[in-house]
Amino acid sequence: MANTKIETKCVQGGYVPGNGEPRQVPIIQSTTFKYDTSEDMAKLFDLEASGYFYSRLQNPTNDYAAAKICELEGGSAAMLTSSGQAASFYSVFNIASCGDHVVASSCIYGGTYNLFAVTMKRMGIEFTFISPDCTDEEFNAAFRENTKAVFAETIANPALTVLDIERFANMAHSHGVPLIVDNTFATPINCRPIEWGADIVVHSTTKYMDGHASGVGGCIVDSGKFDWTKYPEKFPGLCTPDASYHGVTYTERFGLEGAYITKATSQLMRDLGSIQSPQNAFILNLGLESLHVRMKRHCENAQAVAEFLDAHDKIASVNYCGLEGNPCHELAKKYLPNGSCGVVTFEIKGTRADAEKFMKKLRVAIIATHVADAHTCVLHPASATHRQMSDEELVSCGISPNTIRFSCGLENAEDIIADLKQALED
Ligand SMILES: *Cc1c(COP(=O)(O)O)cnc(C)c1O
Repeated sequence: MANTKIETKCVQGGYVPGNGEPRQVPIIQSTTFKYDTSEDMAKLFDLEASGYFYSRLQNPTNDYAAAKICELEGGSAAMLTSSGQAASFYSVFNIASCGDHVVASSCIYGGTYNLFAVTMKRMGIEFTFISPDCTDEEFNAAFRENTKAVFAETIANPALTVLDIERFANMAHSHGVPLIVDNTFATPINCRPIEWGADIVVHSTTKYMDGHASGVGGCIVDSGKFDWTKYPEKFPGLCTPDASYHGVTYTERFGLEGAYITKATSQLMRDLGSIQSPQNAFILNLGLESLHVRMKRHCENAQAVAEFLDAHDKIASVNYCGLEGNPCHELAKKYLPNGSCGVVTFEIKGTRADAEKFMKKLRVAIIATHVADAHTCVLHPASATHRQMSDEELVSCGISPNTIRFSCGLENAEDIIADLKQALED
C-alpha cells in the first residue's frame, strides 16, 4: 500500500491476501510452526532465515497488524506488544540498560512515569524529567555522558500538552540519541511523529487504535532513520555481536531499517515474553480499519464539548488544544492541523463534593478509568486514580480537586452535551 493515502492504508495496509486466500486477516491461533528438517529450524534460531517458530517471539496475525501500524506511521519495522506499558518499557530497555540514563518529559502518562521513575530505576536506569516547555539551557543540562534516549508524548495523557516534536528531535539528535514518542492520543491519523524527526514511536493500542475498549495492546514502530553505527560505544547492543545469537551484529545483518525491531523481538520478546495474543491482534486490526473515520468524529465531538463547557458559567476552566487561547493552540495548529484527540479536561466551580455530585448525574457518559474508545467516559481523578491524596497534594501534581477528565466517544454530540448540561444544573 506504499503510494496510497492514510485512509486506504487503514483499511488495506499490512495484509495483502494472495489468490484464493481469506479477505480478512486470518487468526493464526497456534503456539508453534512446523518444519521439515532440524536444519530449517536451526536457521531460524540463528536468525539466518526469517520465519515463525514460536508465538512467544512472533506470530503472523500480530505481524499483519504491526505492519499496518508501521505503514500508518511511515516506519521501517514494527512489533506488537501485550500492552502499551510493555511497548514503552521495551522501547527504552532495547537501548538502555543498568547504569544508563534517559531524559523524559514530565508530562507523560502516570503509568509510564511510574515505570520509569520507580521500576526501571530499580533496574539501574535513571531518568531525568524535564518540563516540555523548559529552556534550551535546562534541556541541555538534563543530558549526561550515559544518556541513551529522550522520551515524550505527542499529546500528554492527561495533561493534554502538545509536544514540540521538532524541537525535541533536534535536541535529542544534537546529543547523539534517538527521540521516542508515545503517539497514543494523536494516532497516526492526526500526527506522524517520524515526519517531524522522531526516531521511534510507541502506542498503547488499547486506546483509539482498538477503539472499542476490547483489547489491551501495544506497538513499537522504528523509523529506521537513527544511525546507531555513528555511536557504536553508546549502543553496543545494536552495534556489537550478540552472544545469545551466535554473534549476530544487528546493525550489520539487518541494516538501520531492521536492527532495532529485530533486536527487540529476538532478545526482549524472547526473554520477557510480553506478546499480544493473535485474537487481540485480530480485534486490533478491525479497529484500525475504521481508525480514520472514528478519529474525525472523536475530534468533532470533543471540539463541540470543549466549546460548550468553555461558555458555561459553572465551569472554571477547560483544557483542549482545539480552543483558541489554549496554551498549546499554536503547537496544535502545526502538529495537529486536522484535530487532536477526543479527550477534554475541565474544572468545575465549587468543591470536591460539587464535582462528585456532577459525576453522579451523568447518564450518557459512563464512569470508567479508560479513555479513547467509542463510549464517552468520564473520570474524577480526586475520587478515583488520585483518591488517596489530599486537596493540597492534588494541586502539587497539577490536578485540582474538581478536575474532570472527559473522553468523548462516538455518540451524537448533542446527546453528550445535553447530558453535561443536565448534570451541571442545580
Ligand atoms: C494507556 C496509556 C499507556 C499504557 O497503555 P496500556 O495499554 O494501558 O498498557 C501508555 N501511554 C499512554 C499515553 C496511555 O494513554
